[in-house]
Amino acid sequence: MRYQWEVRLYPGEECGVFAVYGHPNAATLATYGLYALQHRGEESAGIATADGKRPFRIHRGMGLVSQVFDSASLSFLSGQMAIGHVRYSTTGSSNLTNAQPIAVVCSQGELALAHNGDIVNASDLRARLEGRGSIFQTTTDSEVILHLMAQRVGKPVEEAFVWALDQTEGAYSLVLMTKDKILAARDPQGFRPLSLGRLDDGYVVASETCAFDLLHVEFLRDLAPGEVVSIDAEGVHTLRAPKPLDTAAFCIFEFVYFARPDSTIHGVNVSQARIQMGRELARLYPVEADLVIPVPDSGNYAALGFAEEAGIPFDLAFVRNHYIGRTFLQPTQLIRDFNVRIKLNLVQESVRGKRVVVVDDSIVRGTTARARVANLREAGAAEVHIRVSCPPHRFACHYGIDFPDPRSLLANQLPVDRIQSYLNADSLGYLDLDGLLRACGSPQSGMGFCSACFTGRYPVAFHQGLHKEILERSQLARLAAK
Ligand code: AMP
Repeated sequence: MRYQWEVRLYPGEECGVFAVYGHPNAATLATYGLYALQHRGEESAGIATADGKRPFRIHRGMGLVSQVFDSASLSFLSGQMAIGHVRYSTTGSSNLTNAQPIAVVCSQGELALAHNGDIVNASDLRARLEGRGSIFQTTTDSEVILHLMAQRVGKPVEEAFVWALDQTEGAYSLVLMTKDKILAARDPQGFRPLSLGRLDDGYVVASETCAFDLLHVEFLRDLAPGEVVSIDAEGVHTLRAPKPLDTAAFCIFEFVYFARPDSTIHGVNVSQARIQMGRELARLYPVEADLVIPVPDSGNYAALGFAEEAGIPFDLAFVRNHYIGRTFLQPTQLIRDFNVRIKLNLVQESVRGKRVVVVDDSIVRGTTARARVANLREAGAAEVHIRVSCPPHRFACHYGIDFPDPRSLLANQLPVDRIQSYLNADSLGYLDLDGLLRACGSPQSGMGFCSACFTGRYPVAFHQGLHKEILERSQLARLAAK
């Protein structure tokens, strides 16, 4: 029989993960941790807790942390251990089934997993596992890790975790909860951040250090690329040796845009890096102008650096409505366009008759920049110069940032001079890769970066047909063939 399946197109894991070990208010801490990581994903949020005796307690929902958790859910989430997740899907649909943490009961006992990143060989692993009878409950790439672990019947959970990860390629910063420990891991390239901290007698793991500040967690260290640790009553144990930092491929776009400015990654503070990007940009593309304005909030620090370096006055002429979510985190094109229009308003008096430099972190589809130039011209700006604090985005990301289709990237479609006319700007300048690397502390920090979205040089091979709904489509194709 053939079924009629409508392939529902969802935008594809930009996510935040958080874990607490050994604290009586684990769920409350996790909730606040997720608040601090909200910028990493606004579609769903979830927390799983354990007290070592009763089954795990899990609460997940669609929407913001503030919409998902209330006092009733927090009192239900009892236990001294918790893991939490905020999600913006890049693999798998945006629905509650795919919200994390994913919890299972298997040969390894109860497990709950929260993942940030994209596993590039997930569909191959899944096909192999299903061939052996695995029944998947989600269409996320993350679930394969739990199924791989379940295959290691009789082995210690730590060994099963490392074994599963050794078969998993791509980007993962993970926290995994068992009935009595927290395991945490970064992929060997260290694509996504993950930091370890200490709170009283317990430990905290978070995607970004900004989540520590809020809770007065003492920062201990970043997990190293490739490192796998377990946290239990005896402390922190390394299960898989770290890779050297210079062989890493840390996502440089975390510094450009994605991470919060108050986070520090491998010793480099994100806001300081952004200020340096602005300085580099001002040296690379100087311009005679009266005013430097950022596209808030993403362009704020780079614009500050640009203005300082160029000696041009800085002003906050765009006023952001903070009650609208990040535009790109909204799933449909319709909503995206709408949000671009309602998100920023201009203080017309500040720009009228002036030669204005507008600084933003990146141009992806170009919708935002084009709309901003139009606003400025309508408000009577004499000249509009666009400066962008990273190189042109020409290639898809397969490691957890949502620009999977190169055709949707403006710089993939047009050369820079035509982008300038498309945006109707008087000049356009993008920071080059060398300047960006310097701004992010390279080579002093010794950290290696992934810049595949600018260069097309991918540190880990990926499946050519990889896109967000790959797991859903292969499932549908199998059903349709029956
Ligand atoms: P646009 O060029 O209109 O697609 O919007 C680009 C703006 O969205 C940039 O200024 C970034 O601040 C932000 N952005 C960052 N990452 C992404 C992403 N993955 N997809 C879309 N927009 C993003």
